[in-house]
Amino acid sequence: MKTFISIILVYLSIITVNAQSLGIIESKNSSDIYNLFKQKNITVHFYNDDFAIISGEYKDHLQYSILEENGFDNEFKYFIQYANEKELLKIKESISEIGEILYTNKTISILKISKKSISQFKPIKNDALVYFDENAAFIADEKKSKFNSELSYNDDISSMLTEVNTDSIESTISYLSSFTTRDCYSAEVITALHWISSKFESYGLSITTQSLSGYGIPSFNVIATQVGETNPDEYVIVGGHADSRSSDATAPGADDNASGVAGVLEIARILSENTYDRTIIYCTFSGEEYGLFGSKYFATDFRNNDKNIIGYVNLDMIGYKASSQSLHTSLIYPSSAKDLADYYRTICSIYLPNFGVIDGTLIAGSSDHASFNNYGYMGIFPFEDVNNYSPYIHSSNDIIGLSVNSLELAENLTSAALATVASLGISSSNVTSSDNGVKSNDFRIYPNPATTDLNISFDNQHVTHVEIYNIIGELMIKKTIEASGIINVSELTTGTYFVKLVSKDYSSVRKCIIKGN
Ligand SMILES: [Zn+2]
Repeated sequence: MKTFISIILVYLSIITVNAQSLGIIESKNSSDIYNLFKQKNITVHFYNDDFAIISGEYKDHLQYSILEENGFDNEFKYFIQYANEKELLKIKESISEIGEILYTNKTISILKISKKSISQFKPIKNDALVYFDENAAFIADEKKSKFNSELSYNDDISSMLTEVNTDSIESTISYLSSFTTRDCYSAEVITALHWISSKFESYGLSITTQSLSGYGIPSFNVIATQVGETNPDEYVIVGGHADSRSSDATAPGADDNASGVAGVLEIARILSENTYDRTIIYCTFSGEEYGLFGSKYFATDFRNNDKNIIGYVNLDMIGYKASSQSLHTSLIYPSSAKDLADYYRTICSIYLPNFGVIDGTLIAGSSDHASFNNYGYMGIFPFEDVNNYSPYIHSSNDIIGLSVNSLELAENLTSAALATVASLGISSSNVTSSDNGVKSNDFRIYPNPATTDLNISFDNQHVTHVEIYNIIGELMIKKTIEASGIINVSELTTGTYFVKLVSKDYSSVRKCIIKGN
């Protein structure tokens, strides 16, 4: 009888597998989307905070539209295309012979393109295509990466930040944008990728390449690795795409994305001079413009081998600033990567207090961080202003001067990513299990804002002294204190300051406002 029941069960499960339709689920609530992972009869293939592509039998209450009655068709490749109505008309026209639009709403469409004709499929816009396939997506395991919110100021990181050099960033952008194109199907991108590889090599890093021929793309990813000293199986990753695209005769791709590659190389140049607990990987991907292929390959490979990525920081377009804007980053991330986004914000407040971090939502496209998030890792995308990004991308005008017009922004976005990666590279910068608590100088300051006296109280018995820095990092006050202390700040002018509490092993920083007399 038992055998009989299990035979029936096997039979039933075969039927369900065969009846897998492919569909899209939409919700304004990201937890609705994340809860799909708990449902037994469906497989999630791609997701973000607003929608998910699933196969299986969906019977719940969310908005569900069928894309294909019989699931994935082997003769076709599937893409999410970010496009508005006007762009969609162009896309419709361009794919009429080679595929079709399965679904469309205000911001995205789902396309299927015949595998036989895939070489004729040219993206209308850059950074707006995401390829998906039968592979199952994963959701980030919140328990695995718990970030330490009480971060301590680290002198090594601070001194590495002084090494970030705009000349070095500019020369990389200048060289990479001198190629006629870096289209992932071109011969030129291969030369560019070899050059990037030799740069990483000159920093003493070990290089591997990942061929994208499985996706029909003749170029490859360049991966540079710096093995961690104590936790080599935990990975901190920074990357950006090296390919470019344009509908003009040339695709210099200075901002999109020679700038991001320049940031990654600069971070590698500086971080490679030190050692870290965790393994740091510097990536430059190809095939981003045609559907995030390079990062999908990388993230799939790490997921299939169950590797532990602590966090991924994506650099894609870091050099354009509209004249009206303040110096800041638009931080893009799905809610599943919120902890890493908060970590980045804390890092900026400690090391780059003048560099604002504003949450941004990218509705017109995506980038390589999406691949990491889709395979269960946390990926964030610190971007130039999301509402005023370079208007010159995917054209022959994506050049230095016009489209990369703020090396100061590029420097700040590079520095913020460097400090985040370096800090995550130190194993005590986050805890992977709750019993592995991090000791720190937890301390309180009050009143804040302060006028004459600033009170400092703390529990750590080994505190030696307090230092107060102004916003540009000049030491204004240094004072030895015991159990708790009162510091006279009446000499300081009105403004933002950083109070650093130093003990034998740790130091911590708090921001404070002084309202001068
Ligand atoms: Zn890009």
